Amino acid sequence: MKVLMVASECAPFVKTGGLADVVGALPTALAGLDIDAQVLLPAYPPLFPHLPKGEEVARFDDLPGGPGRIVRVAAEGIKLLLLDAPQLFDRPDGIYIDGNGRDWSDNHLRFGALSMAGARIAMGAIDGYQPDVVHAHDWQASLTPVYMRMAGRDTPRSIITIHNIAFQGRFGPQVLGQLQLKTDWFHPEGLEFHGDLSFLKGALMFSDRITTVSPTYAREILTPEFGMGLDGVLRSRAGFLSGVLNGIDTDAWDPSDDATLAQTYDAKSLKGKAANRVALSERLGLDTNSDGPLFCVVSRLTGQKGLDALLDAVPHLVERGAQLAVLGTGQPELEQGFRDAAMAHPGQVATHIGYDEALSHLFQAGSDAILIPSRFEPCGLTQLYGLRYGTLPIVARTGGLADTVIDANVAAILAKAATGFVFHDVSATGIALVIDRAVEAYADQKLWQSMQRAAMRHPVSWDSSAQAYRDLYTDLVG
Ligand code: ADP
Repeated sequence: MKVLMVASECAPFVKTGGLADVVGALPTALAGLDIDAQVLLPAYPPLFPHLPKGEEVARFDDLPGGPGRIVRVAAEGIKLLLLDAPQLFDRPDGIYIDGNGRDWSDNHLRFGALSMAGARIAMGAIDGYQPDVVHAHDWQASLTPVYMRMAGRDTPRSIITIHNIAFQGRFGPQVLGQLQLKTDWFHPEGLEFHGDLSFLKGALMFSDRITTVSPTYAREILTPEFGMGLDGVLRSRAGFLSGVLNGIDTDAWDPSDDATLAQTYDAKSLKGKAANRVALSERLGLDTNSDGPLFCVVSRLTGQKGLDALLDAVPHLVERGAQLAVLGTGQPELEQGFRDAAMAHPGQVATHIGYDEALSHLFQAGSDAILIPSRFEPCGLTQLYGLRYGTLPIVARTGGLADTVIDANVAAILAKAATGFVFHDVSATGIALVIDRAVEAYADQKLWQSMQRAAMRHPVSWDSSAQAYRDLYTDLVG
């Protein structure tokens, strides 16, 4: 079976969040199940120089925003189809935003072009390559199933995966013509969302299947609280919606074989973890003689992640004898807030503002627990890395966090099943209470280590999720 993935990010080539991890790891997991998955990705400029020379396999003159060509190249075990359209993608700064943090003004053209190229490839634009299923990811690829349906073809079949429904690709109706979309599809049963064009709504209406990245989030987005305005659309297509939990790349994230660590370790030799705490503490200027646990955060610093509430709980965390290490970038006021917290609690709180993949491994290895107080979390990956590294996740009960962490309640502790701490109330008080529970558990090292071992046993690979996607594809193709 052949699957064409269409996405705007793919690790390790280009990443701003969990979407990239998924698109980068799923093709390899599917290859083990005899599925040939290729990834259509924009050729962002930093990408090309690091890749082998590719082969041009298609050319399009009339994509939104001008011409583009498709270059096929294999790297890091992934078969890439790169959309080379320099007028759209060859620019400095972020892949979605300019140097001032504003969305590129032509994002509709950039990702409209990506989507249209996806649809053309789906319909046979590359000689000798006919995918059976097109798997689009997030709003940036969401017009692919729309263009396929516009072409009047019912093969291949299409799937949209929602990685975060907060990002919908919403633009004024004036862009319809530039995107070559049918104006008679612009109504509430089609592409229109409150007077605007919504890329994601298009995919929700015109894909054969809709998935999201955890079973709990699949249920949550059917409600007004989590659906971000699209819950009604989703309820109308609920029979086609399901949740498939993300896995992680267990080769890239393996504490027994991770070159970025001060010392490798595994569930049998947890002692090695201590050397990583020392290394991380020295790197960040944290006191190394603390008796309490070291909590970490590795995250985009945004309201979604509940980190404003965590900031308010920092004095309590320090009072309880715990330490905090933060790695992240995002909203300026949160960046400043965590910088200020580090200044206020020298040696106990440290903040590293920036995006640093290697350092994120040392954060996971060197910390005792990872705090993820998200207000919503489609799946979340950092709790999975935490489980794998014996770094107990402390998570809000939402989305994929609820699906992957087993709370240290009495029953779970007795059954030796507990892998972390789950709490409900994302507020300074709620976080303070769960911090208390974690600090008390940490004081009982026998309990803590048994939880670490349970966490490290928890399955986090792509195996079962890749099988779930294979079943979905097989079901679709018939
Ligand atoms: P989201 O996709 O909402 O940002 P996820 O938990 O699904 O959240 O994925 C976040 C990914 O980005 C993880 O792989 C995490 O390790 C990584 N990440 C987030 N912030 C940073 C950072 N500042 N430095 C390095 N990696 C980061």
